Amino acid sequence: LNDLILLTRAWNFAATRHVHQRRKAEAQAPYVNHLAEVAALVVEGIGGQDANLIAAAVLHDSNEDTETTRAELVKHFSEDIAELVTEVTDDKGLPKHRRKELQVEQASNKRARAKTIKLADKTSNLGSHLRSPPRDWSVQWRREYPEWAMRVAEGLRGVNPVIEWLFGEAADQLRH
Ligand code: ZN
Repeated sequence: LNDLILLTRAWNFAATRHVHQRRKAEAQAPYVNHLAEVAALVVEGIGGQDANLIAAAVLHDSNEDTETTRAELVKHFSEDIAELVTEVTDDKGLPKHRRKELQVEQASNKRARAKTIKLADKTSNLGSHLRSPPRDWSVQWRREYPEWAMRVAEGLRGVNPVIEWLFGEAADQLRH
């Protein structure tokens, strides 16, 4: 696949799979806006050198938030893209609390490219939390969320200075 074809297919696939989803925040933005923001952050961080990584950013929530399987990602895209998406996917069989802990514990063990997607994801989520926190979050989790996101981000350091800087900006705003 050339890069343009790959990215066109990735967007079409993601838009189709996430078609009925919206962000949980007050504003209820279409889910695909989050995917666009994460992909754009990855591009800010790495430039246009790694089309598989950008496609994986577009597809990063397809395992976790739609019925899409790893095998489908291999079939439609490639082993490399499927593996990247798997690496940033939580195990939904675990309780939410445990999944959050595992994200902190496992962040630093991820490969560099997966860290790039993960940090872009955290940056996007922090930004939308700033703009409007999800309605169904408890008061306690709203308070703990920024601290948790920063603990995950700590393990993602050292790979991408541009995205780290953007994450830091969002985190600073949240503290003030
Ligand atoms: Zn995401």
